[in-house]
Amino acid sequence: MPAALSVSEILASSDGVDTRAVATDLWPRRLIERRDGIAATLPQQVWWPQSQAEVQAIVHAARAQRRPIVPYGAGSGVCGGISPTTQTWVIDLKRMDRIIRIDPAAHEVVVEAGMVGDRLERRLNEAGFTLGHFPSSIYSSTVGGWFATRSAGQLSSRYGKIEDMVIGVWGVDGRGERIEAHVDDLPTGPGAVQMLCGSEGALAIVTQLRLRIEPMPSHRWLRGFTASSLQDGLTSMQRLLQSGAAPSVVRLYDPLDAALSSSHPPQPNEPDHITGGAIACAGIEDSGPHPDDETNPFEPLLQRLEKLMIFSRPHASRTIVGEALARPALLSGLLDRLDAKPRFIIGLEGSADDIHQRLPVVRRSLVGATDLGAAPGERWLSHRHRVSYRMSKVFAAGGWVDTCETACGWAEVLPLYRAMREALRDLAVVMCHFSHAYIDGCSLYFTFAGGGTTGSEGGPRSSLSRYDLAWERALLVLRKHGAALSHHHGIGRLKAHVARSDGTMTVLAAMKRALDPDGILNPGVLGVGGP
Ligand SMILES: Cc1cc2nc3c(=O)[nH]c(=O)nc-3n(C[C@H](O)[C@H](O)[C@H](O)COP(=O)(O)OP(=O)(O)OC[C@H]3O[C@@H](n4cnc5c(N)ncnc54)[C@H](O)[C@@H]3O)c2cc1C
Repeated sequence: MPAALSVSEILASSDGVDTRAVATDLWPRRLIERRDGIAATLPQQVWWPQSQAEVQAIVHAARAQRRPIVPYGAGSGVCGGISPTTQTWVIDLKRMDRIIRIDPAAHEVVVEAGMVGDRLERRLNEAGFTLGHFPSSIYSSTVGGWFATRSAGQLSSRYGKIEDMVIGVWGVDGRGERIEAHVDDLPTGPGAVQMLCGSEGALAIVTQLRLRIEPMPSHRWLRGFTASSLQDGLTSMQRLLQSGAAPSVVRLYDPLDAALSSSHPPQPNEPDHITGGAIACAGIEDSGPHPDDETNPFEPLLQRLEKLMIFSRPHASRTIVGEALARPALLSGLLDRLDAKPRFIIGLEGSADDIHQRLPVVRRSLVGATDLGAAPGERWLSHRHRVSYRMSKVFAAGGWVDTCETACGWAEVLPLYRAMREALRDLAVVMCHFSHAYIDGCSLYFTFAGGGTTGSEGGPRSSLSRYDLAWERALLVLRKHGAALSHHHGIGRLKAHVARSDGTMTVLAAMKRALDPDGILNPGVLGVGGP
């Protein structure tokens, strides 16, 4: 038996500069706190293991001291999954970033959990394959983080979510034991793989994953459309998914979200462009610094409001984003007057012949749609990871912004959409896009932006109070409509109190006791094992 590894050989730091870097994820509540001068809680230490054996050694040492452990991927989570105490050890997995093997015959890759998404995709593309997983955060999230949160990429309608791609997992549980499960392994099977998927660091520290990959398609077709109404847009989307046309991209933006993107005139006679190159390909977007990033995402809307003569001084609106967001009901009413139409982006991939054959099916599925030609689709492709990076401008302007993503069956989509907008009307400007569609339903991705007083004094009119109230109401709406608590961001601490009241928590708590008897793995996340 090999000698037990000593933790003294593993890279670690207790320096403030290092512990601060892993003290939180990107939960917007934490961003408001930082902006308003509330200090972060720093963990006791951060570790950077390079092997599963090193992870085991750290867990054994933590268990001996009854110390909480939080696994850390790239920290792009948005639900407070990373919320250490001053006693916590954070295990940053980014030094475990090797591709173990790409198997072209089996269409599989085995990769360590700390690899950042776009680096994996680039390596797969070089080998002629794609994972097909393109979250907006692909440059700043890890494969292990994807698995731990049940992440979804922009092409999920065609390639599925991460749980559809994973066929094997390796990790270390809270006892320091190695665990391994594969869908094609009789003793463990798909159940054990799925049990760990979405466990957000509460059941195991994932060290390695085996994922299904696909050959890269050779061609793409992308096009924009407006829908005459949201109902028509959703009907088109449902018909499209049920038609067998297998689109890679289906994105429907509600009128407000559509008004945020640049406008395109109708192009009913523009011929179809079938272009060489896949949509499922890393690095085709323009990912460098961009002048757009210097503005907040509400800038285009505010410019249009200026045109409506709502503000008397030219450009005055740009300096009052925070104030405007503190009056969301008024702002929503004004924005509704813009009378924008919902907008679609649809994209197909495959061989040129295959796309030609599927195009009539796509067009037959659309109801009340106006063709905008290829430009909006190609623009979406080149900007596909951009908008999220502009959110910080809203915080800097004194406002806040967050996203609430959920999923439900087709019949419930529109009622849920209306209820959410109504429930938050006095607290936030709410917009929505529908970007992960399936045969039986789709995901609704709400963006809500509000304001309030800033500073650490608190009070009912403070940004933090208004933010918390907005989430309380949003979660109530989800429950009332039987919608998923999350489609792809996870539960974290943000939704843990709601998850706790769910019947399935009994099963999760039992699994937690078996794999983590001392409750040291990310206590509190998912609503299990914490305060
Ligand atoms: C700008 C932006 C855009 C985003 N777009 C998308 C999107 O399109 N689709 C999407 O699904 N999500 C998106 N997200 C959310 C986020 O990127 C995902 O949740 C992602 O999967 C998190 O990966 P990470 O490596 O950053 O995980 P982290 O934030 O580091 O961790 C997330 C959770 O998983 C746990 N964890 C991390 N690694 C491991 C591991 N190896 N073993 C066990 N537990 C682990 C952590 O403890 C934590 O609870 C976005 C976030 C931002 C900020």
